[in-house]
Amino acid sequence: MTPRLIHAGNPGPMTGDGNWTYLIGDRNPVLIDAGVGHAPHLDAIAAAAPRGPSLVLVTHAHSDHVSGAAAIKAKWPAARFMKFPWPVRDPDVGWSWIEDGSTIDTDQGPLTVLHTPGHSPDHLTFWHADSRTLFVGDMLVQGSTVVIPASHGGSLADYLRSLDRMLRLNPARALPAHGPVIDDVAGIIHKYVEHRAQRERQVLDALTTGPLTVDAITAGIYPALDQALVPMAQESVLAHLQKLDSDGRARRDGDRWLVV
Ligand SMILES: [Zn+2]
Repeated sequence: MTPRLIHAGNPGPMTGDGNWTYLIGDRNPVLIDAGVGHAPHLDAIAAAAPRGPSLVLVTHAHSDHVSGAAAIKAKWPAARFMKFPWPVRDPDVGWSWIEDGSTIDTDQGPLTVLHTPGHSPDHLTFWHADSRTLFVGDMLVQGSTVVIPASHGGSLADYLRSLDRMLRLNPARALPAHGPVIDDVAGIIHKYVEHRAQRERQVLDALTTGPLTVDAITAGIYPALDQALVPMAQESVLAHLQKLDSDGRARRDGDRWLVV
């Protein structure tokens, strides 16, 4: 598996350096993720595959992964588009829907589709068993944790289950949408799981003082946080509370949360 890395050219506060997209094969090129439709991205795809991708696989419907689909379709009308449905977010490009266990043929061998919800409800991960390569979208980012947008379709419980599934594949490497290639996949997953367990203990500790709002818990756990980062931290705290709720260990009472 030797995909070409094609940068989407979209650095920014939410995307870091911007997104990687991956082009597999020459005869029937398969592009993983659509970027945002910037001209340099389309030019780079054209340079690598003059007739364009035959197929675009989209990991999930966050805009930095999916919003370029319309521009790709406009430039190469024969391209097909596949993802797992998320009806409120999916732009209309005539999707073919795929699901857990689907197989996608590429010039470099088949990819198995894994539905790995958590970061978003529609998130897919693509597994190339021959090379033990996992295309992970936003499931893993080297040197950082992954946002679980609890008010916008994220689920920490799902995310942890998805990480466990990925771990059990024993991948040799993970190709993410952000940041460098990940060679120690098990290492980063173990680190993530430990980080979430530690955060969960902090949330439970905070609740021992009595019922609290998400804002109050966040202020206690992240006392010196830059104001711009507070909403994201609140999403993370809410994600933990929802997981504790699904585990039967906390519940919501009005706008406050308490231990069960
Ligand atoms: Zn995302």
